[in-house]
Amino acid sequence: MSKRCSHCLQDLPIEVFGKLKASPDGLRTQCKPCEIKGTKNYRKANPEKVKAWDHAKYQRQKEKIKARARANYAKNPERQKANGAKWNAAHPEAHLVILRNAKARRRARLGEQRHERISARQYNRLIVRDTHCYLCGKKNNLSTNSIDHVTPLSKGGQHVYENLRIVHSRCNKSKGNRLVSLPFQWEIGA
Ligand SMILES: [Zn+2]
Ligand SMILES: [Zn+2]
Repeated sequence: MSKRCSHCLQDLPIEVFGKLKASPDGLRTQCKPCEIKGTKNYRKANPEKVKAWDHAKYQRQKEKIKARARANYAKNPERQKANGAKWNAAHPEAHLVILRNAKARRRARLGEQRHERISARQYNRLIVRDTHCYLCGKKNNLSTNSIDHVTPLSKGGQHVYENLRIVHSRCNKSKGNRLVSLPFQWEIGA
């Protein structure tokens, strides 16, 4: 049995087509290689959309993923530690956010100041609100974002929604611990 792929137009064995209950022959119209290629191209062409989807998917499955990670860690802590270090090195921006949240939690435990870890919902609100980086005025880029504390933590600023802005990590680094006043249009409340 063979079937013509609607994309590459080759007659191919039905085994190379994915299943689709809703279609008359129970198969998808494109062959698997074409679908994989299509998905890859789409992901490459729409990085921001894909990132938002992946993020939403992670939020939905977070508890399951975390439980699995804990079980894996218990099974082989040394290998998991090494994998963790590798992941951190490969994702410096994400690692920075994780470290910062951890630092905020640690401070909160110590009672130094009112610190909260921002929720996923708040993070999403930040992304929607802060389309532009207030430090340079240019459009934010989801893949090079970082979270800035308008009033730095070291100067008494809090890790709360109102004090957070999405900025380029490059701009965040060059701002450092300085106090930068917000241009008028960025004076947004909660
Ligand atoms: Zn094909
Ligand atoms: Zn910037």
